[in-house]
Amino acid sequence: MAERLGLFGGSFDPVHRAHLALAQAALEVLALDRVLWLPAGRPWQKARALAPAADRLEMLRLALQHEPRFVLDARETRRPGPSYTRDSVRELRAEHPAARLFLLIGQDQYAGFHTWQGWAEILQQAELAVAARPGVAARAADAVQRHPHHEVPLPPLDISATAIRARVAAGVPIDDLVPPEVARYIDRQGLYRAASGS
Ligand code: ATP
Repeated sequence: MAERLGLFGGSFDPVHRAHLALAQAALEVLALDRVLWLPAGRPWQKARALAPAADRLEMLRLALQHEPRFVLDARETRRPGPSYTRDSVRELRAEHPAARLFLLIGQDQYAGFHTWQGWAEILQQAELAVAARPGVAARAADAVQRHPHHEVPLPPLDISATAIRARVAAGVPIDDLVPPEVARYIDRQGLYRAASGS
């Protein structure tokens, strides 16, 4: 049987419970062998400065350690220039010629998918698996919707990394939003204390 690989990209600044729930739901509903987590080096869409890649990688390592089918793939943090999912999908297709590739995204990303570099090429190499996101009613562009996609069933989780960073900057606990190891890491390293950007 062909290997079934989930690809999950994001800035993961920080990784949070909705990310984990989305990837876990995708593992089950799509019967994935593995989910590769692909933290962005420098996301082309985000203007604000991200936490250093080393910190985002370490938080992911801590968050993913309990699920052996979750694999951290740091290739985008090592690539110079902006992070394009298209490049990673191209490489992963070459590395896994026989696999079925599923690109996991939330509804907000699906709605803007037609603005991604090489989106049509991505859809030739991988199948989209989309999870609903509270507060996001926007639909995908017609050209994108013409391609079939999978739905990832996810209870509404009103969590965003933006809200987490704002809470930390305001001194509000985040224990309900991230795994305990991640909350401890953020606290110990003093991440997100100064409210900069969004
Ligand atoms: P930020 O608030 O910094 O923009 P974020 O919380 O949206 O970050 P990302 O790392 O940008 O997190 O997201 C990675 C992927 O996870 C994206 O495809 C996004 O749509 C999805 N995602 C994030 N949070 C949720 C959520 N609460 N429900 C569904 N999907 C989500």
